[in-house]
This record gives sequence, C-alpha cells and structure tokens, in this order.
Amino acid sequence: MSAGLVSVAYVVASILFILSLGGLSHQESARRGNIYGVVGIIIAVVATVAAVGVNDMVTIVIAMLLGASVGIPVANKVQMTQMPQLVALLHSFVGLAAVLVGFSGYIEPLKATTGTEHTIHLVEVFLGIFIGAVTFTGSLVAAGKLDGRIDAKALTLPGRHLMNLVAIIASVLLGAWFLGTDSLAIGLTALVIMTLIAAVLGVHLIMAIGGADMPVVVSMLNSYSGWAAASIGFMLGNDLLIVVGALVGSSGAILSYIMCKAMNRSFVSVILGGFGQTSSSSAAAEGDQTVHETTADELSEELLNANSVVIVPGYGMAVAQAQNSVSEITKLLREKGVTVRFGIHPVAGRLPGHMNVLLAEAHVPYDIVLEMDEINEDLPGTDVVLVIGANDTVNPAAAEDPASPIAGMPVLEVWKARQVVVLKRGMATGYAGVENPLFFKDNTYMLFGDARESVDKILGALRAS
Ligand code: NDP
Repeated sequence: MSAGLVSVAYVVASILFILSLGGLSHQESARRGNIYGVVGIIIAVVATVAAVGVNDMVTIVIAMLLGASVGIPVANKVQMTQMPQLVALLHSFVGLAAVLVGFSGYIEPLKATTGTEHTIHLVEVFLGIFIGAVTFTGSLVAAGKLDGRIDAKALTLPGRHLMNLVAIIASVLLGAWFLGTDSLAIGLTALVIMTLIAAVLGVHLIMAIGGADMPVVVSMLNSYSGWAAASIGFMLGNDLLIVVGALVGSSGAILSYIMCKAMNRSFVSVILGGFGQTSSSSAAAEGDQTVHETTADELSEELLNANSVVIVPGYGMAVAQAQNSVSEITKLLREKGVTVRFGIHPVAGRLPGHMNVLLAEAHVPYDIVLEMDEINEDLPGTDVVLVIGANDTVNPAAAEDPASPIAGMPVLEVWKARQVVVLKRGMATGYAGVENPLFFKDNTYMLFGDARESVDKILGALRAS
C-alpha cells in the first residue's frame, strides 16, 4: 500500500475513533460508538499490516494469530464482573509494549538521527520506557487487587511520598546520564536501572491506593496506557498511534477527574495514595445493633402498595445476574401503576457504567435510569427503596461520619426514603471494606439471600398477587 493511501486510512481511522468516543458518551448512541470504534481499528490494522513488506507481514500475521488464540478464549470466558481486572491486564500489555519498543528503538533505531533530532529520539525512548514500566507493573497490581489476589487495603509505608520523590529524582538523573552518553553499553545500563526503578514505582503507587479509590485507579491506568501508546507512536514515527494514544490518554484523564469529583476526592491525593483504607471503628460501634429482616412475600405487598419505588443496583446484582428478573419486576410494577425508577451511583459495580450496561441489556428503559444527583432529591418522597447488592454506594457513614474512610464521598441517600429493603447474602462489607450503618436503621429491612434468588421470589409473589 502506498504511503499516501496509508495516511488517508489513518486519517479516516482517527476520525472514526473520535466519533466512537463521542458515541460512547451517551447510552442511546453507545452501540453506534462501538461500531465506529470497531471499523476504525479494522481500517488501522489493515493499513498498518499492508504498509509493511511481505516478510514482515508473515511475522505480523503469526503474532496476530498467537495473540488471538489467547485473547479470544479469554474474552469469551470473562464475566462482566471480571472486566475491570481484564482491562487492567490489557493496560499492562500496552505498558510492556512501550518498554520493549523503547529498548529495541534504542538498540536498533528505525532511522539514523543526529543533533537535535537524535536528542528528541532519546527523550522519546527514555520517557516511553519510563511511562511503560510504571503502567506495566501498576496495572498488574491493580488487576491483582481487583481480582482479590492482592489485599485491596492501601499499603501506607512510612515515608512513602519521599520514596516516590527519590525514585523520580533518580530517574531524572539517570535520564541526564543517558542523554549525555554515546556509548550503547552505558545508555543501556541507564535504561535498565531506570526501568527497574519505574517498575518498583508502579507497584508502590498502586499498592498505596485503597479499595474505595480503585475506580479512579482503573481509569487513571487507562490514561497512562494511552500515553504509553502515544510514546510508542513517537518512537515508531506512527502518527495514528500518537493520535489514538493521545485520545485514550486524555479521555482516561478526563474520566479520572470526573470520578474524583463524583467521589469527592482530590485527583492528586488519589494518585499519591493512602486513601480508602479500611477502618474497624464503625464496625465496633455498630456491632450490637438490631437488624430487621423481611420476606419476599411481605416485600411484594409493600411494593404493590407503594406509589413510588426506587431501585438501587450494585455489584451484587451483577454477580448474581439478577438484572433480567429486576427488569421483569419493574415492568410488572409499572403495569400496576407504581412509579419505578433506578438510582445509579457513578462507581456502582466494578467499572464505570457497569450498572447502566446491565440494565440496558435487560431492556430497562433509559428514561427511568437516573444518575445519583438526579434521584437523591426525590428519595425523601419515595415509599420503598430496593437496594440490590449495593453497599458502599449507599453507606450513610460517608455523609455522617467524618472518621469513615469514605467520608465525603457522595452516596445515594436511600435512608431518607420511607422504607429501605436491602437484598444481600449476609452482613459482609462492600469493596471498600467499610461497615454500613444503613443496615441497622429503623426503616431498613434486610432480605438475605442471593440477589437472583431473592428477586425471583419477589417476582413470583408479585405474579401470584
Ligand atoms: P459493594 O462492593 O459496596 O457491595 C456489593 C455487595 O453485594 C456486598 O456487600 C455483598 O454483600 C453483595 N453481594 C455480593 N454477591 C451477592 C449476591 N450473589 N447476591 C446478593 N448480594 C451480593 O458494591 P457497590 O456497587 O455498592 O459499590 C461499588 C464498590 O466498588 C465501591 O466501593 C467502589 O469504589 C468499588 N469499585 C468500583 C469501580 C467502578 O469503576 N465502578 C471499580 C473498582 C472498585 P454480601 O456478601 O453480604 O452478599
């Protein structure tokens, strides 16, 4: 394929990626956004492969087949609730790719450079490897934390900020050493030492972030992986990769900022870590309080007698795959004249938009699915709130207990409704590991059991009445 055609293909792909991002920002247009993205990536891959010589093409196709033979089974097997750890793992690959491309670009540059151009190339290599190594190990730790293989608690080592600062200063000094040498051996030594420091920095940065702040970390690593991809683009002189990397990097950063605002955290303090630690103080205070239980039959009667019902889904609904039955209940109650709406917290579930996707799949109409800010002011006038497998996102301690690890995080104020019914299996805490005083309030009733089974029982009782 001629260079001109490749450039045209790259411009078309870039436009499709921008349209894709625009489409993904609204539920109604998300499907279209996905299609733009898929078409864009097909054009990009075909143009890139077609641009190289036949010999290289064989290697590329073999590599793609190998990757696909691992990727397709994993993607088919992964549950929706496991998506965040898969995404984190995929980010780690982008980081690793940046490190490998950086080293090969240094050992065997694509073209000989001199003077300022050579210095710029070396800076690209150094920065690309640095960002790549932080992204690689940081994403692996994030995947481990999200998968429960690594303790989600924040690791707050004494002097941790100083350690990070020393790592960054050491990297800058190594960078100066690297730029100032003409010797390949010395340059490689500087690069290897910097890579090790950056890898440890990546581990330390993410280990210091507690469970409650993990959503921001996921989108932040998304942003890092974008910048790592852009750095690969610079090293390879590939304009499309630079554009795509910048799109991913900046959209990830914007999403992180939006999530920080939604969780009332400062972006800098999340990145520096130490937040979201678990605390046992509230646990002790709530230990001997009374819990009221209810049954599916009692609840179905309450629902039928209610004028307005708000359903608040959380991670437990996703695990139990209860969304289709929840959708059935919604339909049935609406047919009987009950106003049913959904209240979605920005970090409900395990990835941004998790609940919206599940409800859309279960054909819940978009117009009754409201954001936290939209539904909160209506909660005091609501008859029954059904909390299905949500916990941290409805925790009053965030609003009422300044000592709580999630203090200041805006939550769905479900306790202000006339009655709250919480569907969960037991008294376990949510992802942030924080006790929830909601369960002990006078107007809260617990319906214990797997969310899917409980919802099916409610559905059965509603149908029978
Ligand atoms: P939580 O993690 O706070 O709570 C989920 C609850 O669901 C648990 O308390 C659990 O209680 C219950 N549960 C689990 N399985 C079942 C089941 N089969 N049936 C019924 N209940 C079940 O969920 P939320 O959605 O309220 O909050 C999300 C949390 O995840 C926040 O802390 C957020 O910061 C974090 N997070 C969010 C991300 C995002 O991007 N949205 C990314 C990473 C983390 P029990 O075991 O007793 O049943």
